[in-house]
Amino acid sequence: MDIEKLKSDLDGIMVEDEPGAVRKKSRDFYWYSPILKRDLDHVTGDIVVSPTTEAEVIQAIAAAYAADVPVTPRGSGTGNYGQAMPLSGGMVLSLSGLNAISHIGPGVVVAGAGALLGKIDAATRAHSGQELRMFPSTHRTASIGGFIAGGSGGVGSIRWGGLRNIGNVTRLRVVTMEARPRVLTLEGDDIAKVAHAYGTNGIITECEVPLAPAYDWVDVIVAFESMDRAAAFADRLGNEDGILLKELSVMAPTVAHDYFSGHGKFVRRDQSAVLIMVAPHSASALEAFTRRHRGETVFRADRLGDDERHALPPLFELTWNHTTLVARRVDPALTYLQTLYPYPDHLAAVARMGALIGDEMMDHLEFIRFDGRIVCSGLPLIRFTTEERLDEIVRLFEENGCLIFNPHRYTLEEGGMKRSDAEQLAFKREVDPKGLLNPGKMIAWDDPDFDFTSRRRYLFSAPAA
Ligand SMILES: Cc1cc2nc3c(=O)[nH]c(=O)nc-3n(C[C@H](O)[C@H](O)[C@H](O)COP(=O)(O)OP(=O)(O)OC[C@H]3O[C@@H](n4cnc5c(N)ncnc54)[C@H](O)[C@@H]3O)c2cc1C
Repeated sequence: MDIEKLKSDLDGIMVEDEPGAVRKKSRDFYWYSPILKRDLDHVTGDIVVSPTTEAEVIQAIAAAYAADVPVTPRGSGTGNYGQAMPLSGGMVLSLSGLNAISHIGPGVVVAGAGALLGKIDAATRAHSGQELRMFPSTHRTASIGGFIAGGSGGVGSIRWGGLRNIGNVTRLRVVTMEARPRVLTLEGDDIAKVAHAYGTNGIITECEVPLAPAYDWVDVIVAFESMDRAAAFADRLGNEDGILLKELSVMAPTVAHDYFSGHGKFVRRDQSAVLIMVAPHSASALEAFTRRHRGETVFRADRLGDDERHALPPLFELTWNHTTLVARRVDPALTYLQTLYPYPDHLAAVARMGALIGDEMMDHLEFIRFDGRIVCSGLPLIRFTTEERLDEIVRLFEENGCLIFNPHRYTLEEGGMKRSDAEQLAFKREVDPKGLLNPGKMIAWDDPDFDFTSRRRYLFSAPAA
């Protein structure tokens, strides 16, 4: 790794090498996990390079290849598992400068990988009353390239499924990590080669994604006396074909009251809260549906005065991993897990896990469309004690048929399906022959024989500089 040689080849591109600034741009929201906080706190890159065009990306990549310098792409650094953290040091390649929105058409938008999702939505709404199908609750801060490379779904997944579902990302331009970098266009099934690959096998420079009709979604909270009733209501509501939703989540009792600084006053401490974004034309049907299930509508944003409504954050900034963020503001000892409950017994599994783990956990469910069915994923809040106990809780979920996407691991496989993705590995071999892209995040590249059934934790050891 020859940083000085690298710098000499970056003429005309913005470079930062002040250690404090580099360290700041070498971090994401890994500190949600006490395990990753302990293991990654020392991680930093050597320089931050910020191209503003695809040609500058190619120049930077070719220079890094020639100097044997690892490259970790970065969007806005809001990932939760150290995805954008440079485990082997080297170059942090910030794509935030590639943020132009170059085309908006019927049902489609094309934008640079660094474009912020909130900005894209504002532009498509203003242009033609259209909006992104789905976005992470970090809508205001996250980039579209970072979402596709590191995210999974979010607000809108109740209607459209996740990023993994074909059709939710339509085209990507990707720069390869070679002596003479190529620009590849990926469409259809090829999208899966780089989607959710943490930037280990290509730099996304441009994204084309589909749009949906935009609505002034109405934020609603419906409360129930128990988690079971709230979860059953949400499950039925998610399956109601005639009620158009953008978000549907359930919080265990105390969560909304104790952790939602603005909205908490609307929910009693003993109530379980269902957070809903409903289309304005479906709001009265939702009211009738709620009465039918004897739920209590405790909050409707469209019934507040302008000042009171504007003083509150959008409801979606209390869902997905924002729930963990606002809960940790009150109790920093909290952490979380990510789980998918087994369909069709998901409600029984929610109740079973609640009983099994008890006070150590406060459940948070996100209802999503998954391969054509409404299923229930979870980001339960966990009162952290020890790593051993956390691993035990993970094992309990898995022994009860729940999938765990472990947020206390920084590798693709351990944070995912606990197996290597042959297609992503093959693509990496093709486009990153030296393995310089985001080292340490794809176990299959470093250790093809790693035994995922062993429950042994994989620890990447960065080669000496
Ligand atoms: C409070 C909070 C709430 C969240 N809610 C959600 C949610 O609802 N849904 C969800 O899916 N995630 C969620 N996340 C995680 C994260 O915010 C999203 O995944 C977000 O989309 C990441 O975008 P980013 O620009 O910050 O990416 P970064 O964190 O910068 O990068 C993410 C990954 O993508 C790679 N990458 C970035 N840009 C490129 C590129 N152009 N080419 C190749 N690789 C690239 C990086 O190397 C890294 O591996 C949340 C995180 C927080 C802190």
